[in-house]
Order: sequence, then C-alpha cells, then structure tokens
Amino acid sequence: MMTGLFPVERFKELETPFYYYDLDLLRKTLAVIAANAPEINFHVHYAMKACATPEVVQQIAKAGLGADCVSGGEIRAALAAGIPAERIVFAGVAKADWEIELALEAGIFCFNVESKEELEVISQTAFSKGMKARVCLRVNPEIDAHTHKYITTGMSENKFGIPMSDLDETVDKCAELKNIEFSGLHFHIGSQITDMQPFMLLAERVNTLVSQTESRGVRVNNINVGGGLGINYEHPNHMCIADFKTYFDIFRRHLNLRSDQTLHFELGRSVVAPCGSLITRVLYVKQGKEKQFAIVDAGMTDLIRPALYNAFHRIENISNNGPVDERYDVVGPICESSDVFLRNFDMAVTKRGDLLAIRSAGAYGEIMASQYNLRRLPGHVTSDDM
Ligand SMILES: *Cc1c(COP(=O)(O)O)cnc(C)c1O
Repeated sequence: MMTGLFPVERFKELETPFYYYDLDLLRKTLAVIAANAPEINFHVHYAMKACATPEVVQQIAKAGLGADCVSGGEIRAALAAGIPAERIVFAGVAKADWEIELALEAGIFCFNVESKEELEVISQTAFSKGMKARVCLRVNPEIDAHTHKYITTGMSENKFGIPMSDLDETVDKCAELKNIEFSGLHFHIGSQITDMQPFMLLAERVNTLVSQTESRGVRVNNINVGGGLGINYEHPNHMCIADFKTYFDIFRRHLNLRSDQTLHFELGRSVVAPCGSLITRVLYVKQGKEKQFAIVDAGMTDLIRPALYNAFHRIENISNNGPVDERYDVVGPICESSDVFLRNFDMAVTKRGDLLAIRSAGAYGEIMASQYNLRRLPGHVTSDDM
C-alpha cells in the first residue's frame, strides 16, 4: 500500500487539504526520548499547544509523558487523551479564573506562575476551595535563544516570566501565602533552538538561581527547563528524529541535579513536528511573466507558519517521482499576499490534480488553523487509518 513515505493511492480518495500524521514515526520518536532520558527523576511533559489532535496525544499518553498545558482547553484535552492529572503542568501568562479552578479541581501537578499578581489569585482560589496549590515560579533567565523574534521568550523585554531581580521577593511571597506550596522553578527560553549553547547557558543560570532560592530557606524540589528543542526543517527525511541525546546530555552535564530533585522538560515541536505533513492538491499551474505558480488548495488558514514566521517547510510532489527540475512559487488560495508556502522552489513537474506534501507540519500546524475566508478547517488522518 505504501509507495515511498506516503500512501498516495489512499490519499487520492480523500478530500484535501488534510493533515497526515505518521504515528509509526511518532512512536519511534517517543522510544528515542525514553531511551535517552531513562532517569526516574527526569520527567518529560509534552507541550500540548504544538498539536492537540487526539490520535497524536493518545500515543504520547501511552508512552507515559506528562503534559504542559497553557489553557483550560488543553488541560481537558490532555486528560481526555489519557494523561493523568498528576503529570500535568499549567503555564501561561494570563490564566483566567475558570482555568485556575479547573486545574485545581482536576488535581494537576503544578502551576507555573508568572507574576506575584497571579500568585495571589491562585492563592485566593485555592483558599475558597480549601486546597493548597503547588507552584513553580517561571523565571525569565534573560538568555538569548538566537531564534526568531516571535518565538524567543527568555529575554527581559519579553512578557513572559518573573524578572530575576524579583525572584527573591516572589519566593518569600509564596512562603507567606498559606494556600500556596512552593515547589520549584520553571524556565522556557524559546522555540526551534538548534544550537545547544543557549541550553548550556540556561543550565548554568539554573544552578545559580536554585542556590540563590534555597539560601532563602526553601527547597527547590522541581526544576523545569521548558522546551524549545528544534528540528531539521531542511532535511525531513535525513533527520526525522531530533537530537534528543545531545539535548538531554547538556542538562545531565551542566545542571547540578540532586537525587531528591526532579528535572522537568516541556517538549512540543521536537516530539510532533516531523511526523505531520499537510497534504494538498494542486488546483492550477499558472504561468506568470517571470515565474510559474503552483496554486494549491491549502492556504495560510491551514498552515500559518510560513506567513507568520517566514518559516520554511519542504514541499514534495508525491504524485510525481520524476526529477526535481522545475521551479515554482507554491501559493495558497487566500486573499492575502503573504499566503505563500515557498518561493522559487524546485519540484518535480507539477500539474493540476497532483498531491503535494508540505513536510514537518506536525507542530503548530493543524492546531493553528483558522476559518478565515470562511474556509473549512483541515481534517486529519493517521498512518494507523491507512
Ligand atoms: C511553547 C512552550 C513549550 C514548547 O515549546 P517547543 O518549542 O514546542 O518545544 C514549552 N513550554 C512552554 C512554557 C511553552 O510556552
């Protein structure tokens, strides 16, 4: 049935555009994560915001990962997919009252708190329910992840986290609040980070901040270093599993973790991006004055990353195995000039009706789809359905 990476014959019967998730690749990826982070005090949480498609999250739940949620909706989706509440952490710069209540009632592991103001609201809500809320403080470590400005989060001009200069005061505040249980520190420096140096700098910064915090008479039982490990968008077939070994080794080498402390990771993109592709049909091949356009039925409403971040996603004509020797701008149907997937890109000769696979789209793809232009949301199928 499978011809190459994709079951093209089966795809022909389906309405396009749709997301295709290779669950075999996802299971292999999860096995690599488990093999490279076997320590019982290493906990990997999947960042739900990357992709909340139930079939995908169910595989992740089966592999034993926890969930990093940034909304009440994500907490519900994680629980529904089978991730136990005690493995859920809840981050986000603006948690609404109902979300805090939901998280407390569900009995999640921990809130990652981003301000003193939020700490007070969580404390009051926990008090009204006769509960104690476990919290980690999200600290802005001021580390430049050298990534796109829209996805860096660890710098001081950024809205995320508590400034390092306010940390001591906020730790003391936790001790004063009876319905708050201080449990540790949380960090997240950005996304699509492929150079390991920022993670090394983060590990070193964490060591300093943990000592500084414990010198105030509290214990830092949990250290959460967030996510951000990048993937290779250029070569999806050669590097289809991210370099988890190098990533975990950085923290193993540079972070002073005691055996009574737990180290948490929140990986999103690196877990799911490679296993997803957006499958789209070519509607027209239009000869422009200087270029030719492959106009496809998927647009920025289905996959917004190219329009939003100028992100590169490799595109393959999966209906034509011939030589890659024609140049196209691959564009969508939306009434916006940013609705372009790739410019001047070489593909096999492409004609109306061909199926294209837009690769590495498993993270921040389907979940970011919108109905702008009153379009239908893209559907999805998985390799297990084929
Ligand atoms: C987005 C996010 C993550 C996941 O980031 P990836 O780059 O997808 O690994 C982890 N933690 C927090 C707090 C986030 O906001």
